[in-house]
Amino acid sequence: MKIMTQKVVDVVKDVRCDVCGDSTSREGEHPPQFGVLKADWGYGSRHDGARYELHLCEGCFFSALATLKQERQACRMFDGNADDQAAEFGLVARGEHG
Ligand SMILES: [Zn+2]
Repeated sequence: MKIMTQKVVDVVKDVRCDVCGDSTSREGEHPPQFGVLKADWGYGSRHDGARYELHLCEGCFFSALATLKQERQACRMFDGNADDQAAEFGLVARGEHG
């Protein structure tokens, strides 16, 4: 026999961007859309035990990505090899929606 009761659970209502502070859900009508910059530094690293997790709105995510792309290009400037993967830097899938 099942004995039913109601249970209160916490759900994520919104995610705010850690950079600009904006909501990542458009007017509460859509589920939050955000990118995550995450690290869990362990033994052997200079930041052993430090954990980071930043939630970024679409604008701040692509701004950060552009900065990292520039850094990548600067690091490879004198390699002599063309950086043919720069355009899709970090992209692992492209959805059919959107
Ligand atoms: Zn933002």
